[in-house]
Amino acid sequence: MKQRNSLRIAIIGGGPAGLTLARILWTRGVTATVFEQEASSDERPQGGTLDLHPESGQVAVKRAGLEAEFRALARYEDQGMRVMDKQGTLLIDNPEGMEEGERPEIDRVVLRRMLLDSLPEGMVRWGHKLRTLEAREDGSHALTFTNGRSECFDLVVGADGAWSKVRPLLSTAVPEYTGVTFVELGLDDVDSRHPEIARMVGNGSLFAMAEGRGLVAQRNGHGHIRVYAMLKVAEGWVEEGGIDFTNAGRVREGLLKLFSDWAPPLLALIRECGDRIVPRQIYALPVGHRWAHRQGLTLLGDAAHLMSPFGGQGANLAMLDASDLALALTEHEDWAAAVREHELVLCQRAEKAARGAAEGIADALAADAARGAFEHVSQRGKSSAEAQSRA
Ligand SMILES: Cc1cc2nc3c(=O)[nH]c(=O)nc-3n(C[C@H](O)[C@H](O)[C@H](O)COP(=O)(O)OP(=O)(O)OC[C@H]3O[C@@H](n4cnc5c(N)ncnc54)[C@H](O)[C@@H]3O)c2cc1C
Repeated sequence: MKQRNSLRIAIIGGGPAGLTLARILWTRGVTATVFEQEASSDERPQGGTLDLHPESGQVAVKRAGLEAEFRALARYEDQGMRVMDKQGTLLIDNPEGMEEGERPEIDRVVLRRMLLDSLPEGMVRWGHKLRTLEAREDGSHALTFTNGRSECFDLVVGADGAWSKVRPLLSTAVPEYTGVTFVELGLDDVDSRHPEIARMVGNGSLFAMAEGRGLVAQRNGHGHIRVYAMLKVAEGWVEEGGIDFTNAGRVREGLLKLFSDWAPPLLALIRECGDRIVPRQIYALPVGHRWAHRQGLTLLGDAAHLMSPFGGQGANLAMLDASDLALALTEHEDWAAAVREHELVLCQRAEKAARGAAEGIADALAADAARGAFEHVSQRGKSSAEAQSRA
């Protein structure tokens, strides 16, 4: 077996999992190569805001030696949490969030930039989309990319998200549609251009859910509010023209019809949103997804345990997985055994979170969803407190 210090490590995917792994390995003297399909760091907007939890995302940040950078970039002031019913009645108003100062928000693009800036030039190879992966007799794997390049590695880490190209070599599981589609909307310069919405959402997130529909509005950096209109619809709803996605005005019209019995202040989130509108079908791997260990390959983050965003755990777990794997690889002489043991911990931990996310989505789809959200939010507060008292 190849010695640990001469190990060639490929990380497929430059998301929170892949970049955290590369960073922590680098701080411990191990150089990996990250292959990312996107052409550059700003090829696509990275998505909304994330709250990093003390028992997972923040642990990874500490292990990455990036606490000071994170403190400077995170929005500690945006941890508020409101829950409304569809009439706009406020059921929960917690301006400090679950527990004060515990889950600071950071925009995904800012988190990615922080991690990228912490890596040496050239460690991330942009424009490398993995096409095939082939096992060789010596236990290594040959990777080929859609740009025609190919290379061999002793350990290939699939951190390539929901539709991982690495996962099929380890598992037959495929993500299943959860029954929920989000339509992502956004409002810019909210404090000056949409002051009533800014006041209604407050500093943090506003959840309003009822009868298989929901509006989730989250304050991001730079005065932006991202809104997810959440719908319980069939898998082909977007392609089959459930509402007309050919232009933003038609989408707004269609959504306003679907939410016609909701209170006007909540409908303003749809009526006043900008023209960048993106539908997202929400998929999840089966709860308890596992695979038989195979030397030279492993999975992290969404590639290993894609779950619905209702538990707010995906990116947090992705980073914790990555930091655990980095420690396992650098602290144990027998790297192959370390990877195998790490997979057991990762799958067990993910199963619990995935079950919570599946329950969260079921609550959100229930007739009395605002009440469900109330209970879910309270439960999240409790489990966070329990996790911390254990730490
Ligand atoms: C609407 C929504 C809201 C969410 N909110 C939260 C939240 O509040 N908190 C939270 O913790 N989580 C949240 N999540 C979940 C979170 O986004 C994911 O769990 C997280 O991004 C997983 O990180 P990852 O690095 O495993 O995968 P990804 O972030 O998907 O990164 C994978 C990377 O791999 C690259 N890639 C893919 N295929 C290839 C290939 N073949 N070759 C090379 N590169 C490839 C991609 O371009 C991407 O950069 C949310 C998800 C959604 C959809």
